[in-house]
Amino acid sequence: MEHSTIAAIATPQGSGGIGIIRISGKASVGILSSLFRFSPKHISEPPDSAAAIFYSHRLYLGHIVDPKAKTLIDEVLVVVMRAPRSYTTEDVVEIQSHSGYVVLNKILTLILGLGARLAEPGEFTRRAFMHGRIDLTQAEAVIDVINAKTKASLDIAADQLEGGLGKRIEELRSRLIEMLAQIEAEIDFPGDIDESPDCTAMSAILENQVIAPLEQLIKGYEHNHYFRDGIRMAIVGRPNVGKSSLLNRLTRTERAIVTEIPGTTRDTIEEMVNINGLPVILIDTAGLHDTTQRIEMMSIERTYATVQTADIVLFVIDLNQSITQEDLNVFRRLKGKTHIVVMNKVDLNNEITLPSEWGQAVAIKISALKGTNIDKLKAAIYKNGIGSEDVLHRASIVPNLRQADCLKKAMHFSLNSLREIKSGLALDFSAIELKDAVKEMDQILGLRYNEDVLDLIFSRFCIGK
Ligand code: GDP
Repeated sequence: MEHSTIAAIATPQGSGGIGIIRISGKASVGILSSLFRFSPKHISEPPDSAAAIFYSHRLYLGHIVDPKAKTLIDEVLVVVMRAPRSYTTEDVVEIQSHSGYVVLNKILTLILGLGARLAEPGEFTRRAFMHGRIDLTQAEAVIDVINAKTKASLDIAADQLEGGLGKRIEELRSRLIEMLAQIEAEIDFPGDIDESPDCTAMSAILENQVIAPLEQLIKGYEHNHYFRDGIRMAIVGRPNVGKSSLLNRLTRTERAIVTEIPGTTRDTIEEMVNINGLPVILIDTAGLHDTTQRIEMMSIERTYATVQTADIVLFVIDLNQSITQEDLNVFRRLKGKTHIVVMNKVDLNNEITLPSEWGQAVAIKISALKGTNIDKLKAAIYKNGIGSEDVLHRASIVPNLRQADCLKKAMHFSLNSLREIKSGLALDFSAIELKDAVKEMDQILGLRYNEDVLDLIFSRFCIGK
């Protein structure tokens, strides 16, 4: 276990009302007392600062003072949260100072000078997990709450942070453990137990109380993960058909945060729109914003590359211009990809007929300029993007990709075990499969983990969380 004391600025960069610096570990209270001077006029019973007797979970007003130069840095509020009643379960100190890069960094530098080291991304949450305060599904939910792109994404993350998924997995896991105990008792002490395990009853439990709920959870991922992860949408079409007008229309009506999407390079900022609660990430929009790049927008190769990485493609055409060979080529590239033909500029009352080979395509007439049928287009993006008209099944738990992968493996082992129990094979075999299913559940909860997986999970966090 890590014994170092870590520190980081916990609030986002930039100027703001207040900024928070967080310290966690054995030395945190000692470090605070070396830096902090109580403000006597604001406290009726100032704790003895020399002995650093801070009461837990109380705010103290005072000043941060450079211990060497004796210069005053800022007026602050500080709180000490004593182990184990803290985010990490270690002694945690939070210093609320004025926000601003210089002041926050100065205080952080003083803290590091007193023996703390800079926290790695997600290290506070990682400690909360390592110390057993939260399970791995909850740790993952922390980042999902921070990154939630729409209210629906936030609902999913908040449920998981409460432990919804973790509790469900624990229930299933304990059922498997009970079955294993029965089987192992039978294997180890065949004559000594009153009753041999009843294979019919065991199959029923496995089927109804493990396999069926596992199936539900996997469905929860498959049907609803878009609300957590978003879908990637490309807007393609010839120059001047109205792609950037459409982009503006979509981002204007449902202006969402311009997010830094995890998994892409740090400096790639992608735009996101909230389409009826579904986070839709617009890819390759750089060309749409930058007129110097637009000319090459229809370059087949570029379009193809964009289309490849999209979950859904809006293929924009202009109702006032005849379909060209280029359009036909692009359309052919959309084969096998969810797409919508967006017939723009309907306000000009000029109509063209679509090529017969496009007959099956979902096609919607809009005016990006006037806003006509934008709601219809959004409904179509939603429906085709998630492959269903259903709104999010609010009650369902939505695992993430990692968890869904473990769930599928647990399902595989449980089904094997069921088959073996039913076929009357020696119970040893089904016990092996059940143990493998338990191992997958352990991985979901983080009872069993490998450091690489943890590194991957926590690398998505920001420093200070
Ligand atoms: P892009 O090159 O495909 O991104 O096309 P733009 O969005 O830049 O649009 C090209 C021109 O078409 C601009 O002058 C727009 O104002 C105009 N335009 C875009 N959408 C519409 C529309 O729905 N109706 C009309 N009348 N003009 C439009």
